[in-house]
Amino acid sequence: MKVALFPGSFDPITEGHVEIIERGLSLFDKIIVAIGVNANKKYMFSLEDRMAMLSATFGKENRIEVDYYQSLTVEYAKTRNIPFILRGLRAPSDLEYEQPIAYVNQHLNPEVEIVCLLSKPETAHISSTVVREIIRYNGNLQKLVPMSVIEYILKKKLQF
Ligand code: ADP
Repeated sequence: MKVALFPGSFDPITEGHVEIIERGLSLFDKIIVAIGVNANKKYMFSLEDRMAMLSATFGKENRIEVDYYQSLTVEYAKTRNIPFILRGLRAPSDLEYEQPIAYVNQHLNPEVEIVCLLSKPETAHISSTVVREIIRYNGNLQKLVPMSVIEYILKKKLQF
């Protein structure tokens, strides 16, 4: 079975992430969407909220598993025996950011293969950063994040 890890902060998950994950499902049998917890990073959503939003988004898809880890991404991939790391590229700046990380990851774990998919033009403008800004000012999140995220924020009455 071909398994890939899709790591990220998912603060929160966006339609950009969903689009890459859905296309990833045509390449891999299973995708593990996992939140890499970085103790030095400030997040808008707690780990619990981000995990809940991932579960609400992918709960019904049995080829997707959600998880989190508090180690290096390659270490997590190694312990779980995951041979592929999936990433999404929106623009050349994403590649500039991804390339050195990919080289270090392959140095640390030569068995891991990093697979990057180019985002669709329709979702290339979406980032969690822009989404967080819109949330702060109570803007319209439709088509930027999955409905499950909008419903979660409303249901939990999250205030920012
Ligand atoms: P990180 O903190 O690792 O950058 P993110 O949650 O921001 O985590 O992103 C996870 C992955 O999703 C990264 O590979 C990122 O480039 C990709 N990604 C984010 N937004 C989009 C988008 N709109 N289209 C395609 N890929 C995206």
